[in-house]
Amino acid sequence: MSEKTCITVARGDGIGPEIMEATLKVLEAAGARLSYEEIEIGEKQYLSGQTSGISPSDWKTLLKNRVFLKAPITTPLGSGYKSLNVTIRKSLRLFSNVRPCNAYAPYVTTNFPKIDMVIIRENEEDLYAGIEHQQTDEVVQTLKLVSRPGCEAICRYAMEYARAYGRRKVTCLTKSNIMKHTDGLFQRVFEEICKEPQYADIETEHRIIDIGAALVAAHPEDLDVIVTLNLYGDIVSDIAALVAGSVGLAGSANIGFDAAMFEAVHGSAPDIAGKDIANPSGLLNAATMMLVHLDQGDVAMKIRNAWLKTLEDGIHTVDIYKEETSKKKVGTQAFADAVIERL
Ligand code: NAD
Repeated sequence: MSEKTCITVARGDGIGPEIMEATLKVLEAAGARLSYEEIEIGEKQYLSGQTSGISPSDWKTLLKNRVFLKAPITTPLGSGYKSLNVTIRKSLRLFSNVRPCNAYAPYVTTNFPKIDMVIIRENEEDLYAGIEHQQTDEVVQTLKLVSRPGCEAICRYAMEYARAYGRRKVTCLTKSNIMKHTDGLFQRVFEEICKEPQYADIETEHRIIDIGAALVAAHPEDLDVIVTLNLYGDIVSDIAALVAGSVGLAGSANIGFDAAMFEAVHGSAPDIAGKDIANPSGLLNAATMMLVHLDQGDVAMKIRNAWLKTLEDGIHTVDIYKEETSKKKVGTQAFADAVIERL
């Protein structure tokens, strides 16, 4: 019970170092049974000439520890740089991106107080497979790659997730009416898996992504588990996070067969970096998901309850602060301290 698990930690770019500091101090105070090996990834690596954004020795650390708590990083613009996020997800075979999205009404203002949705996004294929070509000076091409094993893994993961967490409905979102081969395959595999007898008590449906995204924005309370392709999942989960209150709240898990990475849904927010105003909750919620993954549900529950109590007590960072519902506006580190006081 008391043995520590060694995980890899990266503080990232922009607001990354601030929200990681806040998260690590909550983990420490809550008694998480963890030890850390830190790696440096992102902007500094890119600008020092590592076009992948990570050094070979840091790769070794990632491969050794297999569990990674990662702050957001900035991918420099320009075709010479590969997205490290995409590289890590593909190299560690993190096929499933799990993004829970909840409302915390009345403490965090939202028009939809009952949002309780989990977006399960395919994480390795689709337009993010990284197959891009310059065909001529004026024509470029990106290939959309979708495989049957990829569809089977993610659709089954979504159905198993629904069963394990007692969820009522799984909605599959694709554009199969236009992309009949790629999105058509995803829909077909989803429908095949839904027919298996062990899933008989889970309601399932398929919707075209355009109306699906509109539903996430206008009727998010009607949705439960969503399973979808990589690009749609990325977009829909930011819409869902914002509709629920703030992009600063949502954490996510990237799960593979023998490795996992946990991170906030949002990016490195360079516009607010270094000001001690970022909300650390997205990364903290990701860390809570990591503790559950590591069989430290006792510590996860302690942190989750303290975090909810902090929100309930109206101690809010600026992104969720509202005169009517909040009591105290705090910065990143003071928010973490308030969580620690409530452990
Ligand atoms: P972003 O998510 O960083 O920011 C969007 C908006 O949300 C900004 O106004 C920002 O201030 C606000 N915001 C984000 N996180 C917040 C928090 N914790 N608290 C309060 N407000 C918060 O998206 P962007 O501006 O499009 O991207 C910035 C950089 O992040 C880009 O370089 C992009 O490539 C990178 N990015 C990284 C990841 C990742 O590492 N997983 C994910 C997405 C984007």
